[in-house]
Amino acid sequence: MAPTFLLLILLFTFSILSIVFIELHRILKNADKLHEELREERDIAKAIVASMGEGLLVLDTDYKIKLINPAAEKFLETSVKEAVGQKWAEFGKAYIGDKPIPFNKRSAVISLTKGTVKITTITDDHYYVTRSGRKFPVVAITAPLVHNNQVIGIVKVFRDATKEKDIDRMKTDFISLASHQLRTPLSAIKWFCELLVDPKSGTLNPEQKEYSKNIATSTERMIDLVNSLLNISRIESGRIMVEPKSTRLLELVKEIVSQLEKKIETKKIKFIISSHEKLPTVNIDPKLIGHVYMNLLDNAIKYTTEGGEITVFISKKDQEIISQITDSGYGIPKDEQNKMFQKFFRATNIVRHETEGTGLGLYLAKAIVESSGGKIWYRSEENKGTTFWFSLPVSGMKPKKGEVSLD
Ligand code: ADP
Repeated sequence: MAPTFLLLILLFTFSILSIVFIELHRILKNADKLHEELREERDIAKAIVASMGEGLLVLDTDYKIKLINPAAEKFLETSVKEAVGQKWAEFGKAYIGDKPIPFNKRSAVISLTKGTVKITTITDDHYYVTRSGRKFPVVAITAPLVHNNQVIGIVKVFRDATKEKDIDRMKTDFISLASHQLRTPLSAIKWFCELLVDPKSGTLNPEQKEYSKNIATSTERMIDLVNSLLNISRIESGRIMVEPKSTRLLELVKEIVSQLEKKIETKKIKFIISSHEKLPTVNIDPKLIGHVYMNLLDNAIKYTTEGGEITVFISKKDQEIISQITDSGYGIPKDEQNKMFQKFFRATNIVRHETEGTGLGLYLAKAIVESSGGKIWYRSEENKGTTFWFSLPVSGMKPKKGEVSLD
């Protein structure tokens, strides 16, 4: 009995061991396969990073470079050996125009501290400096690197935008030159139209008079467009001079409104202008800021129906002077509001009512306000009205030597 029982136990143990062994073998095989797959995925990820045309940098939470791909090595004229472990803020010098960007304004710092994605385009005038000292314009996307719901660093994708910058400059130069060349013949057409309708040049029949007036109106619109294009190219090229003067904004608004008096009367618009009692004078360039008021007020009149109301209120809040322009006009359709400050944008509800307009005024107004250290924003409801606000620092604008001023 005993040997048979022993044999049975042995057989049983052997079977169990075989099963365990087979299962173990299967697990190990699977693990090997998984390992192989993971290694393959890692190799692919490595190959993608190495083959990217854009520069890639990964920083840790101390802003130390953890990874740099070959494209970034090339753009920055460096090597993995030299770059990895270095602090990005010291290693990668960054400028806006010709001013170094302070540490707390660096995209990486903003991305890490605020957890936001920071996009830099060519209009931001952002530059990096290579190890040999060459400064190049850069476009970049900087984002927090998130793993298991935790920010573990920063990932930055960038490229050398020298070619785009050159093309952008050529485009601005072309617009400036073409607009300049167009202005002289257009002024001549306008002048001859005026001569044509002048009784001293002989009498025209009513039809001829009507046609001549149409030519004059269309020419004036073309001159407006050409002037707007010229002004935009001047602002974009940074050649505008800034000549701040101590200015009472309320007086400036009143002066602009007096230039629009005819339009206000024709549309029977109620106009209310007021300000905080103790509004300080500010050191601003009245020509530049006058342009902003002119555009916002002209729009408010243009896009308000007869008998409507426009109010202007200027106030001081903390270190800013805020101008508010409210109208009871057509408003802006909700789904088009994100395009308001784009070049050539005209809302569909407006195009139906008002054929005149270039869609360049707000773009220019925003460029002027932002280059003056302020902000511009709005709130609007279709068929109810619109309010625009823009702020200017109480400290005023800094003077700047330039070659041109606005028309
Ligand atoms: P323009 O007035 O020459 O069309 P702007 O750049 O000044 O160009 O304005 C762009 C567009 O924004 C306008 O065409 C209009 O659709 C909208 N807009 C601007 N201001 C107002 C306003 N106060 N009320 C309603 N729509 C406005």
